[in-house]
Amino acid sequence: MSTVVISGCSVVTMDPSRTEHPSGHIVVDDARITAVGAGPGPRDLPGATYVDATGCLATPGLVNTHHHLYQWVTRGLAADHTLFDWLMTLYPIWAGIDEDTVRVAATGALGWLARTGCSTTMDHHYVFPAGAGDLLAAEVDAARAIGLRFLPTRGSMDLGRSRGGLPPDHVVEDIDTVLAATADAIDRFHDPSADSMLRIGAAPCSPFSVTGDLLRQVADLARDKRVRLHTHLAETVDEAEFCLDRFGCTPIDYVSALGWLGPDVWLAHGVHFDDVAIGQLGTSGTGVAHCPSSNARLGAGVCRTRDLRDAGVPVGLGVDGAASNESSSLLEEVRHAVLFARAVGGPGALTVRDGLEMATLGGATVLGWERDIGSLEPGKLADVALWRLDTLRHADIADPVAALVLGAPPPLELLLVQGRPVVERDRLVNHDEDAIARDVRDANRALLSRAGVMS
Ligand code: ZN
Repeated sequence: MSTVVISGCSVVTMDPSRTEHPSGHIVVDDARITAVGAGPGPRDLPGATYVDATGCLATPGLVNTHHHLYQWVTRGLAADHTLFDWLMTLYPIWAGIDEDTVRVAATGALGWLARTGCSTTMDHHYVFPAGAGDLLAAEVDAARAIGLRFLPTRGSMDLGRSRGGLPPDHVVEDIDTVLAATADAIDRFHDPSADSMLRIGAAPCSPFSVTGDLLRQVADLARDKRVRLHTHLAETVDEAEFCLDRFGCTPIDYVSALGWLGPDVWLAHGVHFDDVAIGQLGTSGTGVAHCPSSNARLGAGVCRTRDLRDAGVPVGLGVDGAASNESSSLLEEVRHAVLFARAVGGPGALTVRDGLEMATLGGATVLGWERDIGSLEPGKLADVALWRLDTLRHADIADPVAALVLGAPPPLELLLVQGRPVVERDRLVNHDEDAIARDVRDANRALLSRAGVMS
């Protein structure tokens, strides 16, 4: 058994009472937390590793609820475009991805997520060019190598341009292929156990890139297999107009009629929900992945997080793909979520603790993982972020949570996932970050060259 005792730090637990300890300790035995409390930790545990965390803040590891890992190798393109124009620029480039591209991109994206305090992430992969290899296995390998808890979703597109959709026909699949591949992904990889490091979800891409038949049949399959459902919804005004033109209704009424509301569903973005839609989400227990930086980068708008939370909607945070959020820092999403909500709704719209809650327990709830992750409590899995707050950037900021959320990004002293160190002193454990960067650069050049963009 490996035991770790972290002592001398501020601790924000996110437990049901939202307990905080100005100076506290955390004890980890193997994969789980066994004690959290005020004051110094035990000093006499045989074989234990003792971490002096003086000057640090311990929080639950952050939980990322929306991402497209493969986009790590297509950053900085279409930098001033709307969502639809950005997609039209990038689809032809993404059509050239293969197993190696996805492995390299996922390694870079997951490594950087870990460096920003993320211990659990989902991925939404929906581009499966014919003959590209086993893309899902490639990202699963990358997550195992970096050491993050992972919920990849088998995404899909089946509504090509010739049938009225947005993506080119050569990047979409047919329904039977999608259903077979989704079932195969669940059968091969999904681990529903309490200690799971890997769960699978099902995720058709968006109303303008998939058919209603696909949405309905994937929902049936996911419920039969007891996995979660995810898609993009209500991201832009263009999407709302597409739904009105094609289906004669709002995005939420469209997916609601197809069985896509419920506690096993979470929706990315949710920027353009009216009061009625927010009520439907709250009543049905449908979650929302709020991606403030991506929404701002694409000029999509600002999600109504205060109203969603007031209606009882589970809300988590997401970095979204790196092609629409080159920064891809989950901690930065906390800051942006709080600042953007206040810019629109006034200083009381979200507190700094609301922001941190969305990035931890909120995200865990959105992913259906709240029984085992999202807070620092005895019995929960040992996913812990330890932030150093005693350097020039933060020393003497009055409140450690304000320092974390409103201050500059702090050094990440330690990230434990399942009790194992993934980041130590702001560097990935057991990985050469320069080598990852070189691989990313090579994959980017090869991909753009295949697309005829540049080399
Ligand atoms: Zn997205």
